[in-house]
Amino acid sequence: MNARRDFLQKLTLGLGLTAMSDYSFGSVANMQEPTAERPLRVALMGLGGYANIVAKGMQECKMAVITGLISGTPSKLKSWQEKYNVPEQNTYSYETMHRIKDNPDIDLVYVITPNSLHHKHVLQVAATGKHVLCEKPLADNAQQAREMISACEKAGVKLYVGYRLHFEPHTREVIRMREEGAFGKIMHVNNYMGFTIGDPTQWRLKKALAGGGALMDVGVYSLNAARYCTGEEPIWVTAQESKTDPVKFREVDETITFQLGFPSGIIANCGCTYNFGHSERLHLMGTKGWAEMVPAFGYGPIKGNTHLGPIDQPKVNHQTYQMDGIAACILNNEPDPNVTGQEGLKDMIVIDAIYESIKKGGQKIVINA
Ligand code: NDP
Repeated sequence: MNARRDFLQKLTLGLGLTAMSDYSFGSVANMQEPTAERPLRVALMGLGGYANIVAKGMQECKMAVITGLISGTPSKLKSWQEKYNVPEQNTYSYETMHRIKDNPDIDLVYVITPNSLHHKHVLQVAATGKHVLCEKPLADNAQQAREMISACEKAGVKLYVGYRLHFEPHTREVIRMREEGAFGKIMHVNNYMGFTIGDPTQWRLKKALAGGGALMDVGVYSLNAARYCTGEEPIWVTAQESKTDPVKFREVDETITFQLGFPSGIIANCGCTYNFGHSERLHLMGTKGWAEMVPAFGYGPIKGNTHLGPIDQPKVNHQTYQMDGIAACILNNEPDPNVTGQEGLKDMIVIDAIYESIKKGGQKIVINA
């Protein structure tokens, strides 16, 4: 077992309800060693592919630790319990998870289930009075996202979305440079994210569980990046869908291109696909310079260049940084970064408009946020 995790887990499980309230962990920016009495105690919900990556990344966390598990598969609960040293009384099925409200060992539940279950699962977690981190896309549509935000506000808990790149140093550096004017006025953005999807029977190709196709899954990266590359919110959208395999992609979108119009007058040209690889890039162009990241959105290492030279930032584990970053926000009461439920909602509003434009033959859809 990892020594840091062992230490954090002993500390947190031993302290339970009596844990200290004086949290003073370092911020994600400087990633100092924790100085408080305990880390953020996290229950993972949905022990699938991405939960495995998160759990592995969390072994290096300085401020967050896995203390609970929620799964519909009893054998996974057993093996994960042993692997991550989680006590049996902190393991739940979807049917028993409401009991988390009585468990002082859990501060936050991380929802890592298929997209169309996020709405239901976030409402269930909010009802337990625990904070929620929900994977992307936040919901199937903006209406669901609003209901999730409202439920968390009423319950007095925080809602975050799993936008790990907002903690990733190369991405943060591009945002910092843009905010400081290094690129001048941003004139154009061109982002693309996609991959070739395999198994035709997987939930990502079923609308009832995925909500949509490439746009929901990876288009959200191109879109979210267009917002952080410009620092503006889109006011209109046009979009087109292309489908070369109507059998595999019978229920969901295969490839979508979309254009976002911003208040300053510039247009971002973005896209996403489930049907070709090597398509992961961010490109912003300003009056004074440019930035390009290839790859830009996967788990890394992210690589980037600007007109001033390569983006020289450390290669980090995205999941470690994300979880320590969210822990810092909650435990230190630091200002929330761009990963709140509201940020997820902003993208869902645009995604709704993209689908509406496609349905209307590429018509321009004005966005009323
Ligand atoms: P997986 O299919 O690998 O895992 C999903 C898990 O959800 C399952 O293993 C299962 O766990 C649980 N589950 C509950 N109900 C269902 C159901 N009806 N059908 C299928 N699974 C169910 O998916 P991923 O882990 O790849 O994706 C999960 C979420 O994470 C998605 O929203 C995805 O967009 C997001 N994601 C985010 C990434 C990022 O970089 N931020 C990367 C990859 C995914 P159990 O058996 O324990 O109940």
